[in-house]
Amino acid sequence: MGIDREIYAYGEAVLNKLAGRFQQIDEIAEYNQLKVVKAMQECQISEACLLGTTGYGYNDLGRDTLEKVYAKIFDAEDALVRPQITCGTHALALALMSNLRPGDELFSPVGKPYDTLEEVIGIRPSKGSLAEYGIGYRQAELRPDGSFDYDAIRASIGPRTRMAAIQRSKGYQTRPTFSVKQIGELIAFIKDIRPDILCMVDNCYGEFVETVEPGDVGADMVVGSLIKNPGGGLAPIGGYIAGKKECVENAAYRLTSPGLGKEVGASLGILKDFYQGLFLAPTVTASALKGAVFAANLYEGLGFPVIPDGSESRHDIIQAVTLGSPEGVIAFCRGIQAAAPVDSHVSPEPWDMPGYDARVIMAAGAFVSGSSIELSADAPIKPPYAVYFQGGLTWQHAKFGILKSLQSLADRGVVDKNSLPL
Ligand SMILES: *Cc1c(COP(=O)(O)O)cnc(C)c1O
Repeated sequence: MGIDREIYAYGEAVLNKLAGRFQQIDEIAEYNQLKVVKAMQECQISEACLLGTTGYGYNDLGRDTLEKVYAKIFDAEDALVRPQITCGTHALALALMSNLRPGDELFSPVGKPYDTLEEVIGIRPSKGSLAEYGIGYRQAELRPDGSFDYDAIRASIGPRTRMAAIQRSKGYQTRPTFSVKQIGELIAFIKDIRPDILCMVDNCYGEFVETVEPGDVGADMVVGSLIKNPGGGLAPIGGYIAGKKECVENAAYRLTSPGLGKEVGASLGILKDFYQGLFLAPTVTASALKGAVFAANLYEGLGFPVIPDGSESRHDIIQAVTLGSPEGVIAFCRGIQAAAPVDSHVSPEPWDMPGYDARVIMAAGAFVSGSSIELSADAPIKPPYAVYFQGGLTWQHAKFGILKSLQSLADRGVVDKNSLPL
């Protein structure tokens, strides 16, 4: 498979030290596997739930029951889980737009939100943004060490503040990802100032990484994408919003139409993949996590800065590796691509993607286009030349991809395969 003995041996040496970490990951996966099965059993999933509806989609048993399953798993009163929610950004935009009204203010207590939300909010002007509807926005920056700045948070909450948007994962930033416990403390702090502020958590990449979810610690809405963790690699599209009944109802009225809400929205033939993907999600997430921990330790051992570092606890599946040069990030991404089950024969190139201020390179050879629970990597071609790596439907495949990335760095002279630490 094109991996030199020296590279493979170094990988095995790194792996030898990770048994304890992997066991912890397996224990969390076991707990979450049972959590999912329990929810499915309590909701009495039957064979009929796996079939779908067409047209208006009235009385879609499988869709309505799946939403009950999600509500249980995310400790929520209700949920909206739909193929008509096209991606994570759409799910987040829906949660915001349906629960905010003109004159309200949205507040981010965790600094800058995910890139694509800048246009949703109107930080970067865009058609149809919250700003166009007279909805204000404020953010409190994190402290230099990445922790919450409680004084700044208190000072930012005003009479118009209606919702706090809390992003769990670092996304493409170098701040730490927050644990569910930390998010719970933040929610308690905000609710202590004003109990009527809705707390919405962007849960992208965080599902099933811990045994608790943000709904367990007081979030009013938890939002994510089905082509990340909770789709288990099988969901070919979709997003979810789990939360307070009223919040979910508002979102449903916005997704379909006032008056129609959750009652319409045919599931077509997609439900079996939504259910089976959710069933697989805890172990798929565990595989991706093992890949992230392996990559952190492999590259840390070679002296590259990694976030999180090799021994830190994990709260999402993203791994950043700073390679320090354009050649490094390009070689890394080409190695990941070469390990893919689909499109392994193509070579990714950096290009001027819309919405980014630098060229970006992306490696993805996925069964579901753009799915980032599958093995994937991307990097902006700008200092500090960090690559963001995530996914792997199986640990064995994630391992292969990471070894291929190192092989690619060695082949292009970025790393010397004859001086690897052993
Ligand atoms: C992926 C992601 C999003 C947006 O999801 P898309 O499906 O790419 O639109 C939002 N927030 C975070 C933290 C993400 O990781």
